[in-house]
Amino acid sequence: MTHHQDNSKEDVKNERHQQRQQKLKDAVETKVASAQEERGVLMIITGNGKGKSTAGFGTLTRALGHGKRAAAVQFIKGGWECGERNVLQKLGVDFAIMNTGFTWDTQDRVQDTLACEQTWCVAEKMLADAELDIVLLDELTYMVAYHYLAVERVVSALKNRPAHQHVIITGRGCHRALLELADTVSEVQSIKHAFEAGVKAQAGFDY
Ligand code: ATP
Ligand code: MG
Repeated sequence: MTHHQDNSKEDVKNERHQQRQQKLKDAVETKVASAQEERGVLMIITGNGKGKSTAGFGTLTRALGHGKRAAAVQFIKGGWECGERNVLQKLGVDFAIMNTGFTWDTQDRVQDTLACEQTWCVAEKMLADAELDIVLLDELTYMVAYHYLAVERVVSALKNRPAHQHVIITGRGCHRALLELADTVSEVQSIKHAFEAGVKAQAGFDY
Protein backbone atom coordinates (compact mmCIF):
# COMPACT_ATOMS: atom_id res chain seq x y z
CA MET A 1 0.00 0.00 0.00
CA THR A 2 1.32 3.43 -0.89
CA HIS A 3 1.56 6.29 1.50
CA HIS A 4 -1.12 8.13 -0.42
CA GLN A 5 -3.69 5.31 -0.07
CA ASP A 6 -2.95 5.11 3.65
CA ASN A 7 -3.71 8.79 4.10
CA SER A 8 -7.00 8.72 2.22
CA LYS A 9 -8.18 5.77 4.32
CA GLU A 10 -7.42 7.78 7.43
CA ASP A 11 -9.29 10.75 5.95
CA VAL A 12 -12.40 8.64 5.41
CA LYS A 13 -12.16 7.32 8.98
CA ASN A 14 -11.76 10.81 10.38
CA GLU A 15 -14.66 12.13 8.35
CA ARG A 16 -16.94 9.28 9.51
CA HIS A 17 -15.91 9.93 13.10
CA GLN A 18 -16.67 13.62 12.70
CA GLN A 19 -20.10 12.85 11.20
CA ARG A 20 -20.97 10.39 13.98
CA GLN A 21 -19.93 12.87 16.66
CA GLN A 22 -21.97 15.64 15.00
CA LYS A 23 -25.05 13.37 15.04
CA LEU A 24 -24.41 12.62 18.71
CA LYS A 25 -24.03 16.32 19.44
CA ASP A 26 -27.35 17.07 17.72
CA ALA A 27 -29.09 14.33 19.70
CA VAL A 28 -27.60 15.53 23.00
CA GLU A 29 -28.51 19.15 22.27
CA THR A 30 -32.10 18.20 21.41
CA LYS A 31 -32.39 16.30 24.70
CA VAL A 32 -30.79 19.12 26.70
CA ALA A 33 -33.15 21.63 25.09
CA SER A 34 -36.21 19.53 25.99
CA ALA A 35 -35.18 19.13 29.66
CA GLN A 36 -36.13 22.57 30.93
CA GLU A 37 -37.88 21.85 34.20
CA GLU A 38 -36.17 22.87 37.44
CA ARG A 39 -37.48 21.25 40.61
CA GLY A 40 -36.54 19.11 43.58
CA VAL A 41 -35.48 15.60 42.62
CA LEU A 42 -36.04 12.46 44.66
CA MET A 43 -33.06 10.20 44.15
CA ILE A 44 -32.72 6.66 45.50
CA ILE A 45 -29.42 4.82 45.65
CA THR A 46 -30.02 1.16 46.37
CA GLY A 47 -28.49 -2.26 45.68
CA ASN A 48 -25.96 -4.51 47.40
CA GLY A 49 -22.77 -2.87 46.19
CA LYS A 50 -20.57 -0.43 48.10
CA GLY A 51 -20.95 3.28 47.42
CA LYS A 52 -24.55 4.23 48.31
CA SER A 53 -23.98 6.38 51.39
CA THR A 54 -20.79 7.90 49.98
CA ALA A 55 -22.76 8.93 46.88
CA GLY A 56 -25.37 10.53 49.14
CA PHE A 57 -22.81 12.46 51.15
CA GLY A 58 -20.99 13.36 47.95
CA THR A 59 -24.14 15.00 46.60
CA LEU A 60 -24.57 16.96 49.86
CA THR A 61 -20.99 18.16 49.50
CA ARG A 62 -21.70 19.19 45.92
CA ALA A 63 -24.73 21.19 47.09
CA LEU A 64 -22.68 22.90 49.83
CA GLY A 65 -20.16 23.91 47.19
CA HIS A 66 -22.93 25.95 45.58
CA GLY A 67 -23.93 27.59 48.84
CA LYS A 68 -27.01 25.38 49.32
CA ARG A 69 -28.42 24.36 52.69
CA ALA A 70 -28.25 20.67 53.49
CA ALA A 71 -29.33 18.28 56.24
CA ALA A 72 -28.76 14.58 56.86
CA VAL A 73 -30.59 11.90 58.79
CA GLN A 74 -28.75 8.69 59.59
CA PHE A 75 -30.94 5.71 60.33
CA ILE A 76 -29.37 2.75 62.21
CA LYS A 77 -25.69 3.62 62.20
CA GLY A 78 -25.52 6.40 64.75
CA GLY A 79 -23.18 4.51 67.04
CA TRP A 80 -20.68 4.36 64.25
CA GLU A 81 -18.00 6.88 63.55
CA CYS A 82 -18.66 8.64 60.27
CA GLY A 83 -15.96 10.59 58.46
CA GLU A 84 -18.42 12.55 56.34
CA ARG A 85 -20.36 13.64 59.43
CA ASN A 86 -17.16 14.97 61.05
CA VAL A 87 -16.57 17.18 58.03
CA LEU A 88 -20.10 18.17 57.05
CA GLN A 89 -21.21 19.15 60.56
CA LYS A 90 -18.38 21.67 60.61
CA LEU A 91 -19.73 23.07 57.35
CA GLY A 92 -23.13 23.68 58.92
CA VAL A 93 -25.00 20.55 57.86
CA ASP A 94 -27.65 19.53 60.42
CA PHE A 95 -27.47 15.87 61.40
CA ALA A 96 -30.15 13.75 63.04
CA ILE A 97 -28.78 10.43 64.16
CA MET A 98 -30.65 7.33 65.21
CA ASN A 99 -28.35 6.09 67.91
CA THR A 100 -29.23 2.42 67.99
CA GLY A 101 -26.46 0.99 65.84
CA PHE A 102 -27.13 -2.06 63.67
CA THR A 103 -30.37 -4.00 64.02
CA TRP A 104 -28.39 -7.21 64.41
CA ASP A 105 -26.59 -5.66 67.38
CA THR A 106 -29.61 -4.21 69.18
CA GLN A 107 -31.87 -7.22 68.44
CA ASP A 108 -34.62 -5.20 70.09
CA ARG A 109 -37.69 -4.45 67.97
CA VAL A 110 -39.45 -2.24 70.50
CA GLN A 111 -36.42 -0.09 71.19
CA ASP A 112 -35.55 0.18 67.48
CA THR A 113 -39.13 1.15 66.58
CA LEU A 114 -39.11 3.87 69.20
CA ALA A 115 -35.74 5.21 68.07
CA CYS A 116 -36.93 5.13 64.45
CA GLU A 117 -40.09 7.04 65.35
CA GLN A 118 -38.09 9.78 67.08
CA THR A 119 -35.64 10.06 64.22
CA TRP A 120 -38.38 10.05 61.59
CA CYS A 121 -40.08 12.98 63.36
CA VAL A 122 -36.91 15.03 62.86
CA ALA A 123 -36.77 13.91 59.22
CA GLU A 124 -40.39 15.01 58.74
CA LYS A 125 -39.52 18.49 60.02
CA MET A 126 -36.62 18.68 57.58
CA LEU A 127 -38.88 17.58 54.72
CA ALA A 128 -41.23 20.44 55.62
CA ASP A 129 -38.47 23.05 55.92
CA ALA A 130 -38.34 25.25 52.81
CA GLU A 131 -34.97 26.63 53.94
CA LEU A 132 -33.40 23.24 53.21
CA ASP A 133 -32.31 22.68 49.62
CA ILE A 134 -31.32 19.06 50.06
CA VAL A 135 -31.98 16.29 52.60
CA LEU A 136 -30.17 12.96 52.84
CA LEU A 137 -32.08 10.07 54.41
CA ASP A 138 -29.23 7.60 54.82
CA GLU A 139 -30.25 3.94 55.31
CA LEU A 140 -33.95 4.82 55.40
CA THR A 141 -34.89 1.74 53.36
CA TYR A 142 -34.32 -0.59 56.33
CA MET A 143 -36.80 1.32 58.49
CA VAL A 144 -39.52 0.55 55.97
CA ALA A 145 -38.31 -3.03 55.29
CA TYR A 146 -38.37 -3.88 59.03
CA HIS A 147 -41.79 -2.20 59.45
CA TYR A 148 -40.44 0.28 61.97
CA LEU A 149 -41.94 2.95 59.76
CA ALA A 150 -45.02 2.83 57.50
CA VAL A 151 -44.14 3.49 53.87
CA GLU A 152 -47.27 5.67 53.52
CA ARG A 153 -45.85 8.18 55.99
CA VAL A 154 -42.63 8.40 54.02
CA VAL A 155 -44.48 8.79 50.71
CA SER A 156 -46.72 11.49 52.16
CA ALA A 157 -43.82 13.51 53.62
CA LEU A 158 -41.93 13.25 50.33
CA LYS A 159 -44.95 14.31 48.26
CA ASN A 160 -45.64 17.32 50.48
CA ARG A 161 -42.08 18.60 50.69
CA PRO A 162 -41.11 22.02 49.27
CA ALA A 163 -41.07 21.86 45.47
CA HIS A 164 -37.42 22.88 45.15
CA GLN A 165 -36.09 20.43 47.77
CA HIS A 166 -33.91 17.50 46.66
CA VAL A 167 -34.03 14.29 48.69
CA ILE A 168 -31.67 11.34 48.61
CA ILE A 169 -32.59 7.97 50.08
CA THR A 170 -29.98 5.24 50.45
CA GLY A 171 -30.07 1.61 51.50
CA ARG A 172 -30.60 -1.88 50.18
CA GLY A 173 -33.96 -3.44 49.34
CA CYS A 174 -35.90 -0.24 48.74
CA HIS A 175 -39.71 -0.47 48.92
CA ARG A 176 -41.46 -0.43 45.53
CA ALA A 177 -43.68 2.53 46.50
CA LEU A 178 -40.57 4.67 47.03
CA LEU A 179 -38.95 3.47 43.80
CA GLU A 180 -42.12 4.44 41.93
CA LEU A 181 -42.21 7.89 43.51
CA ALA A 182 -38.52 8.58 42.83
CA ASP A 183 -37.28 10.61 39.86
CA THR A 184 -33.83 9.06 39.75
CA VAL A 185 -32.97 5.54 40.92
CA SER A 186 -29.54 3.96 40.79
CA GLU A 187 -28.74 0.42 41.79
CA VAL A 188 -25.18 -0.18 42.94
CA GLN A 189 -24.26 -3.72 42.04
CA SER A 190 -21.53 -5.60 43.88
CA ILE A 191 -18.96 -7.20 41.62
CA LYS A 192 -16.62 -7.90 44.55
CA HIS A 193 -15.87 -6.42 47.97
CA ALA A 194 -12.61 -6.43 49.93
CA PHE A 195 -14.47 -7.62 53.05
CA GLU A 196 -15.06 -11.00 51.39
CA ALA A 197 -11.26 -11.35 51.06
CA GLY A 198 -10.83 -10.69 54.80
CA VAL A 199 -10.15 -6.95 54.70
CA LYS A 200 -11.79 -5.26 57.67
CA ALA A 201 -13.88 -2.07 57.51
CA GLN A 202 -11.34 0.76 57.82
CA ALA A 203 -11.74 4.31 59.11
CA GLY A 204 -11.29 6.81 56.32
CA PHE A 205 -12.37 4.38 53.65
CA ASP A 206 -15.40 2.41 54.77
CA TYR A 207 -16.79 4.87 57.30
P1 ATP B 1 -20.52 3.20 51.72
O1 ATP B 1 -20.91 3.77 53.07
O2 ATP B 1 -19.11 2.77 51.68
O3 ATP B 1 -20.94 4.09 50.58
P2 ATP B 1 -22.87 1.63 51.30
O4 ATP B 1 -23.63 2.75 51.89
O5 ATP B 1 -23.12 1.33 49.85
O6 ATP B 1 -21.31 1.84 51.55
P3 ATP B 1 -23.99 -0.12 53.29
O7 ATP B 1 -24.86 -1.25 52.86
O8 ATP B 1 -24.62 1.06 53.90
O9 ATP B 1 -23.08 0.26 52.05
O10 ATP B 1 -22.90 -0.73 54.25
C1 ATP B 1 -21.99 0.06 54.92
C2 ATP B 1 -20.75 -0.70 55.27
O11 ATP B 1 -20.76 -2.02 54.75
C3 ATP B 1 -19.47 -0.08 54.69
O12 ATP B 1 -18.45 -0.22 55.61
C4 ATP B 1 -19.21 -0.87 53.45
O13 ATP B 1 -17.82 -0.96 53.13
C5 ATP B 1 -19.74 -2.22 53.80
N1 ATP B 1 -20.28 -2.86 52.57
C6 ATP B 1 -20.97 -2.28 51.61
N2 ATP B 1 -21.26 -3.13 50.60
C7 ATP B 1 -20.71 -4.31 50.97
C8 ATP B 1 -20.64 -5.61 50.38
N3 ATP B 1 -21.17 -5.86 49.18
N4 ATP B 1 -19.98 -6.59 51.08
C9 ATP B 1 -19.45 -6.34 52.27
N5 ATP B 1 -19.47 -5.14 52.89
C10 ATP B 1 -20.09 -4.14 52.26
MG1 MG C 1 -24.79 3.02 53.48
